[in-house]
Amino acid sequence: MKIMKFGGTSVGRPERMHQVMDLVTKGDERTIVVLSALSGTTNALTAIGEALAAADRPLAKSRIDELHKHYLDFYPQLVQTAEARKKAEDIIKEHFEFLNILLKISFNEALNLDILAQGELLSTKLFFTLLEEKQIPAVFLSALDFMSIDVNGEPELDKISERLKTILAEYGEAEKLFVTQGYICKNHRNEVDNLKRGGSDYTASLVAAAIQASVCEIWTDIDGMHNNDPRVVDRTRPIAELSFDEAAELAYFGAKILHPASIWPAQQFNIPVRLLNTMQPDAHGTLIKAEVSREGVKAIAAKDGITAIKIKSSRMLLAYGFLRKVFEIFEKYKTPIDMITTSEVAVSVTVDETRFLNEILGELKAFGMVELDSDQAIICIVGNGIAEDEGTLRSVLEALRGIKVRMLSHGGSRHNVSVLVDSKLKKQALAQLNEGVFSWN
Ligand code: ADP
Ligand code: ASP
Ligand code: MG
Repeated sequence: MKIMKFGGTSVGRPERMHQVMDLVTKGDERTIVVLSALSGTTNALTAIGEALAAADRPLAKSRIDELHKHYLDFYPQLVQTAEARKKAEDIIKEHFEFLNILLKISFNEALNLDILAQGELLSTKLFFTLLEEKQIPAVFLSALDFMSIDVNGEPELDKISERLKTILAEYGEAEKLFVTQGYICKNHRNEVDNLKRGGSDYTASLVAAAIQASVCEIWTDIDGMHNNDPRVVDRTRPIAELSFDEAAELAYFGAKILHPASIWPAQQFNIPVRLLNTMQPDAHGTLIKAEVSREGVKAIAAKDGITAIKIKSSRMLLAYGFLRKVFEIFEKYKTPIDMITTSEVAVSVTVDETRFLNEILGELKAFGMVELDSDQAIICIVGNGIAEDEGTLRSVLEALRGIKVRMLSHGGSRHNVSVLVDSKLKKQALAQLNEGVFSWN
């Protein structure tokens, strides 16, 4: 069985949904199709939730109406028969009635999560209506019946696997096509929740791992992972092959094409991940697998919104246990640390989660002087084994000439050199690295 996941732009227009239908019905292998919401929908739902949270009902209402209109314009081009159009109308009516009811009741976080789930529910139901109209046999699976996260928000892969296998066992080999939602899940309170923005990639990889699929295909609007962020830098190129480790680092450090956590489930079961372009289905894209050749720097990614914290303490000098105490504070507030550098009298760490920053800073002050730099960017240079190459670090630093580097991490992993710079310098740093560190330049 294989997984085919389609992102927001791949389903964002009626003609694109038709293309998706063609792609998922091409092969012979049994397939689970995972769909995102139509592009723009999750942003719109987030904005509706924000207006409701601010008790601005007129604003929430106008945002709901605008989104509603988008769907009313969408479905007549998606399906043609009176029967299919009636079905599509009913689906849209049901979900927008739900959103409109929220204008009349008191708002809370659980409702907000319900709002965010509407996008994937709408896209999968509308796609399913299209399949029905074309008489393509398929099974509709509700992700809320098998996708779940634990009390820490982590996916429960064993339980997901058990539930999904039980559900699939109800269908015979003759059932070849299954359609389900990306992103949405149930949480430990059995409420609707989600896998965070971009989470449909994560769903696809988790579903692939849950059933030990033959391949996890992520179909998007670009021909694979590029060597640098195409939104920021000109002249980027697709990468034919990446190892799981390389792809995981790039995803974690900001390559938006993949959700930050989306590699580990597939990696755990050695399931190849392919990044493919819905608009250009014959392009090679990127194949992500266990072993790849060593070819120097493969790609660069950047993550914005990073905060650097420096703790200076004369007492740290030669004191064992100091770092443990520092880390315990971050652990207490469930705040992951990304980069770390130390000297004899100071330690600098970076975080991108700032929800509990004030509490963390308050506790760190007990150890010494604490300094903060916000609006930083981590730039992560990735390539199989590059941290062991004699020349990579030199070429990275040479390429960064004229750019102030706030922190540098080398040797933490074999595949990664990371630098921290002020966010204002990110674009320039990515452009200079693009010219300076790739062997094909
Ligand atoms: P989807 O809606 O299909 O999930 P996303 O917008 O989440 O698509 O991801 C695809 C986008 O990621 C691309 O259009 C591109 O702008 C952006 N992107 C950022 N970094 C990279 C990269 N290194 N390689 C390819 N795409 C990237
Ligand atoms: N629809 C969700 C989002 O926009 C999930 C996804 O597209 O992967 O974040
Ligand atoms: Mg995405």
